[in-house]
Amino acid sequence: MKNIYFTVGPTQVYPTVVSHISKAIKEDIVSISHRGEQFKKIFEKAVSNLRDLLNIPLTHHIFFIPSSTESFERIIANTVYKKSTHLVTGGFSKKFYQTALDLKKQAIAITIPIDKKFDWRKLIIPKDTELLCVTENETSNGVQIPLAIFSDIKEQNKNLLLAVDIVSSTPYSYVDYEVFDISFFSVQKGFGLPAGLGVLIVNEKALDKALFLLKKGINMGSRHHSFLNLAEKEKKFTTPGTPNVFNIYLLSKVTQDFLEIGLKKIRNDTDTKAKMLYDLFDSEFYYKPIISGGFRSKTTLTINVKGKAQEIASALAQKGCIVSKGYHPQEEEYIRIGNFPAHHIDHVQKLISALKELRVT
Ligand SMILES: *Cc1c(COP(=O)(O)O)cnc(C)c1O
Repeated sequence: MKNIYFTVGPTQVYPTVVSHISKAIKEDIVSISHRGEQFKKIFEKAVSNLRDLLNIPLTHHIFFIPSSTESFERIIANTVYKKSTHLVTGGFSKKFYQTALDLKKQAIAITIPIDKKFDWRKLIIPKDTELLCVTENETSNGVQIPLAIFSDIKEQNKNLLLAVDIVSSTPYSYVDYEVFDISFFSVQKGFGLPAGLGVLIVNEKALDKALFLLKKGINMGSRHHSFLNLAEKEKKFTTPGTPNVFNIYLLSKVTQDFLEIGLKKIRNDTDTKAKMLYDLFDSEFYYKPIISGGFRSKTTLTINVKGKAQEIASALAQKGCIVSKGYHPQEEEYIRIGNFPAHHIDHVQKLISALKELRVT
């Protein structure tokens, strides 16, 4: 029996990836130079497919870096002189905030309560905030923030830069690039690819800020990894260091597959599968999702299993369904279930059967 990975990332590989990998090997993709013509074409294709798929306008640059944890650091270092504000909903948004503190910024965390209704009109962005950081889908606990509320915030704070972590919500999520100056994700979640490639999307306003910091003599880390150098290299369809050529190739292929299917269908299927699972948990299932209301994630479902994560994960694994345990420090409290494009409706049906067969004590 082949396992199905409902883990929240890395996760099940997208079904076409196996044939893309063997083609990559046949075409010697892992041996080619990242400065040559063949790589330029791959880079260009990956970027143009991402633009088409996610509607990323030409106002925004697309950079390839190793991971989204690194994006936290690049973003803070390149756009914050003194002050960033972070909407904290769980472990990943907290890490983003922590990164700003590590880089000696005056970072402010606004903790959003996840268990009750939050009135977004009451959200006050602290004065002099240069960068507001939002995690659309908090993979640590399955809280999804509606991005639509940020157009008003942007409207009221014209000089504010807005950054959104869409790591575990893209390509399902909808990002308005008029509102968000910066967004980023990694490919091992919604794109069903091997880990080790981050995509960082930034506009001219963010680049201007990087230039301002450079001129001010602020420590932005090494010049190689600055937004300015990433943009310089992007113009030549390459990256400052040797990138994950193999994964950029795979991304160019999987985005092509997604384009052929259409994002509309991918989103509809995501909704359908999320509903199938939530319907089970909300009705007959003994353990319940930790979020009852509107913040519920469609892409990473988090269930409170009352300290039995290991037991439940093992029982599901026996039936070929691999789920994630909770995020530190709630490893034993929750199980987390990824619902990405790689997960077929039949897979979800199989998981539902396995969940129904669990003996709950
Ligand atoms: C996985 C994840 C990250 C970190 O991505 P890496 O590629 O592992 O560095 C950041 N934010 C969120 C919401 C994530 O789910």
